[in-house]
Amino acid sequence: MARIYGLETEYGLAHTPGEDHKRIGPEEIARYLFRPVVEWGRSSNVFLPNGSRLYLDVGSHPEYATAECDSLGDLLAQDRAGEALMIDLLEKAQASIAADGLSGRIHMVKNNTDAAGNSYGSHENFLIRRGLDFNRLTTVLLPFLVTRQLLVGAGAIIPRTSSLSPDDTADRGDLTFGLSARSDVMWEGLSSATTRSRPIINARDEPHADAEKYRRLHVIVGDSSMSTATSALKLGSAVLMLDLIEQGARIPDHGLRHPVRDIRVVARDLTGRTRLERTDGSTTTPLGLLADYRDRAAHLVETGDHSLGEDGLAGYVIDLWTRMLEALGSQDFSAVDTEIDWVMKRALIDRAMTRGGIGLGDPQIQRLDIAYHDITPATGLFPKLEAAGLAKSLVTAQAQTAAKDEPPMSTRAAVRGAFIRAAHDARRDYTVDWVHLRLNDESGRAVALKDPFSPTHPQAEALIAGL
Ligand code: ATP
Ligand code: MG
Ligand code: MG
Repeated sequence: MARIYGLETEYGLAHTPGEDHKRIGPEEIARYLFRPVVEWGRSSNVFLPNGSRLYLDVGSHPEYATAECDSLGDLLAQDRAGEALMIDLLEKAQASIAADGLSGRIHMVKNNTDAAGNSYGSHENFLIRRGLDFNRLTTVLLPFLVTRQLLVGAGAIIPRTSSLSPDDTADRGDLTFGLSARSDVMWEGLSSATTRSRPIINARDEPHADAEKYRRLHVIVGDSSMSTATSALKLGSAVLMLDLIEQGARIPDHGLRHPVRDIRVVARDLTGRTRLERTDGSTTTPLGLLADYRDRAAHLVETGDHSLGEDGLAGYVIDLWTRMLEALGSQDFSAVDTEIDWVMKRALIDRAMTRGGIGLGDPQIQRLDIAYHDITPATGLFPKLEAAGLAKSLVTAQAQTAAKDEPPMSTRAAVRGAFIRAAHDARRDYTVDWVHLRLNDESGRAVALKDPFSPTHPQAEALIAGL
């Protein structure tokens, strides 16, 4: 089986003032941050030689969308390369800010909520076949997405009781450590709007490929992951679920009766034993569902008929999935405590609370939560955990650096990357999107890369050769 997938990550920006106590707002930080991007590509919305897209959307959240990958190893490396590119930009911006006589330090965080309570995201993109019954797909996938946070949530300090409508004003003062803050901002199971009604699965139909053959599934419920191990399980389990569904596995297709309520309840139960009601009246638990999915996925990996690639990561995904289920069952997390974000974050927070005799609402704990997601080398916690061997990394520094320049070589991203590099070097004016490559000259030559699986394209190669 083969599949294309890509990951979009939005980052948060913040500034800690220096002696002059002047604060720089996110918009201004973003302007500094994107200065080298605009210089390079004359826009704050560019495609890079590694095939990715780097842009600044409304709300001053820089975003990096990886190129199309067809193996989990490539996806992890491309996502990590995005982090490295952001750090490069951050260091340049810090220097320009200082050169302009402003003090303080700017930070970039890979998390999902800012201080004002805005939620932003991580979007997972998976290619699926057009012939697949989309309704059945979402019915089967929803319970998985509602419960997946138990395995791979980022961990979040959230109100103990959840609100069930957007304008609910319940007591937000009583806090608990939950699995994911994203769960509280999901208001529908499936819809085509991403901001107004925030669905768990986004039905917007923009395939970025031959629409007769393919569809792109856009999942917006997941947390950004700091740990590449967590990322591997988050994306790997989703890909295996899609493989199972496309192969016609007989996963029960009675969905959850109350997915929007359930996702909030699951976020607040670190044991996975909450009873969830299905549409046929039967009940199940998050642990029960995830163990059933794991068994099926493990079988698929044994047969080799999956779309995670050949580099051995599929076996790792099943292994980590299994160890995490065992940890949840026994509540002894020592076998996963260098791999799963929420487990690592909770351990740090518990230790700080005990040491300081403070509660979850203490500003020190809030700062610790943010520091966990801070990718700024001087202040971020996670790079230190990785360096100390306290967090496992699946992407070597070498692979990360290489992926800053090199696209995945087995998908159409290879063609896009080659075109961008050549056109940029030749100082030609060009336009690129996920499908198209175009020269903005009298010739107006353009090609459409309609097959995301194909790393070659004769017309595109001729276009590149002629530059
Ligand atoms: P926006 O985020 O601006 O609303 P969008 O959802 O199209 O737009 P982009 O930020 O442009 O998202 O990112 C698209 C993502 O989809 C990338 O990670 C890319 O690798 C991936 N992608 C592109 N084509 C396909 C495809 N045919 N199937 C699956 N994923 C794809
Ligand atoms: Mg995007
Ligand atoms: Mg998107």
